[in-house]
Amino acid sequence: MKKSKRIVIKIGSALIAPEQDGCRSRYLLSIAQFIVRCRTRGIEVILVSSGSVAAGSHLFPNTENATIAVKKAMAAAGQTEMMATWDRFFDFPSAQILLTHGDLRDRERYTSIRETIFTLLDHGILPIINENDTVTTDDLKVGDNDNLSAMVAAAADADTLIICSDVKGLYNKNPNLHADAELIPEVTVITEEIYDMAGCPTSKVGTGGMKTKIEAAEKAISHGIDTFIVNGFEETTFDLLLAGNNPGTVFLASETPMQEAVHWMTHTASEQGELVVEDDYDMSDEHAVLSGESITEVKGEFSVGDTVLVRSEDGTRLAKATTNYSSCLLNFLAEQDESPISEKIQDSIGPVISEQDIALLEKS
Ligand code: GLU
Repeated sequence: MKKSKRIVIKIGSALIAPEQDGCRSRYLLSIAQFIVRCRTRGIEVILVSSGSVAAGSHLFPNTENATIAVKKAMAAAGQTEMMATWDRFFDFPSAQILLTHGDLRDRERYTSIRETIFTLLDHGILPIINENDTVTTDDLKVGDNDNLSAMVAAAADADTLIICSDVKGLYNKNPNLHADAELIPEVTVITEEIYDMAGCPTSKVGTGGMKTKIEAAEKAISHGIDTFIVNGFEETTFDLLLAGNNPGTVFLASETPMQEAVHWMTHTASEQGELVVEDDYDMSDEHAVLSGESITEVKGEFSVGDTVLVRSEDGTRLAKATTNYSSCLLNFLAEQDESPISEKIQDSIGPVISEQDIALLEKS
């Protein structure tokens, strides 16, 4: 991270609440020192911290079989303890930002989140970000803070993402089961083979595992963000990072990163509906404007500005895009055929999706 200017560091629940009975400072001191030293060197830092559920769980009996409502209550109670714990380490102010996927996938709210992060950084305030577990439903949540940290890194235009794990990095096989497992120091392309190496979640605390860390790395490197998976339990990790060395696995940023809006659409936005086009329709050849005539079917209910999936009749996923039309209006226009009213509407609104609002997908 020699050339880093803005980093996101993600800390898992096992580091902040290792015994799940409140927050402990045992592993946090070296991390807090790292944050302070980065800032002293002029590197801007954003902290993505888990731990609200783990920190709040001791306030409730029967945590093993806790219902979702109780887990949300744990998160609400533990979040303040988690923030207070971090605050004790710093003599500069910090700010709490709680996000859901529902916030990140809404372009207006996403832009507002970006502005808030930039303003906090401009004023020397440390943003501390977590998922807003108290208000999420399955449909609204990111679900793990590894992926959340990658979305935050992209939103914040960071150049480096550091994910602190309980192992040194990515191994070619599970190091807890195989003594001859080897650490992979550098990854340039994330393939199926890399996902196979990630195996199953290993930690008992928190929701992520190596798989979600690889997913996060994939999101981040396509945005031009170098991503480290390191062992957050070892103090030496942070000295090595500051010295410009790699203490774990580094996933190297793509040399041809996606543009911000395209990255958001590909990795953060989720589709609210579908536009089906003919099988031979070539999105890349069309200079990516999609007119009403090219659409054979409209699926789902969506509003203007929502993200939709464009797919062919055979099911191939072609692109994600922001729609200029609601599903309601598209269905209405299809019924009108070529009446003057439908022409008038189409003339005034323009294409269904516009060139700058399209993210072509790898065919799948
Ligand atoms: N947001 C959850 C919490 O703070 C953690 C999610 C995760 O472990 O990745 O407890």
